[in-house]
Amino acid sequence: MNSIKQNITQVINEMALAAKKCGRNVDSVQLLAVSKTKPVAAIEQAIDAGLVAFGENYVQEGVDKVNYFANHPAADQLVWHFIGPIQSNKTRPIAEHFDWVHSIDRLKTATRLNEQRPATMAPLNVLLQVNTSGEASKSGINENEVIALAAEIATMPQLVLRGLMSIPQPETDYDSQFAAFKKLADLLEQLKPHHPQLDTLSMGMSGDMEAAIAAGSTMVRIGTALFGARDYGSQA
Ligand SMILES: *Cc1c(COP(=O)(O)O)cnc(C)c1O
Repeated sequence: MNSIKQNITQVINEMALAAKKCGRNVDSVQLLAVSKTKPVAAIEQAIDAGLVAFGENYVQEGVDKVNYFANHPAADQLVWHFIGPIQSNKTRPIAEHFDWVHSIDRLKTATRLNEQRPATMAPLNVLLQVNTSGEASKSGINENEVIALAAEIATMPQLVLRGLMSIPQPETDYDSQFAAFKKLADLLEQLKPHHPQLDTLSMGMSGDMEAAIAAGSTMVRIGTALFGARDYGSQA
């Protein structure tokens, strides 16, 4: 089995190739390492290999990891992204520990994160999670709700809206993957005139990274290809 370090090299090479194919600069796509369910030792190896951005899906597990790495020599460089579903009674630990939240899908969640983000911390970077797969998926707001929610968030001083995120229905063929990602990219372009600071399209996972980069992704969220398959057996 490959080491995490070898996996990272391979994923970065694949990202570079995908960027080159569509005429993009590889530096315009960030690698977010999705470390959910993985032990701190795995994150440690990824940090040693140069990664700094980590994505977590479960509040308690994520908070434990943020706290664990607070004393790491690279702590100042580490950036923690919350990418999982958010229950509104669990917003406070997210507001107090993370740098980014990708999964904003309700005004109530945004309002609570804004209220609970400590004034001593930099504003929380947030993305709206959009459902571009229609009936087939229940996660994320509908495309026609994006403009209104973005306008609400723009009034919240402790949040900075950075862009959009999606988790399309898994598709195996490239064209279907690309079409779903292109929808999100087009939505971001529609929003930009109203919110010039928008710079982030969080889209693409281990199985559809190439199509996401071709459609304009600025941040791919990669778990399996870096850390191997996840074992949910031990998950509460
Ligand atoms: C788990 C997860 C990922 C990573 O998926 P892989 O297929 O393992 O790369 C990316 N984004 C979100 C929101 C996830 O929950």
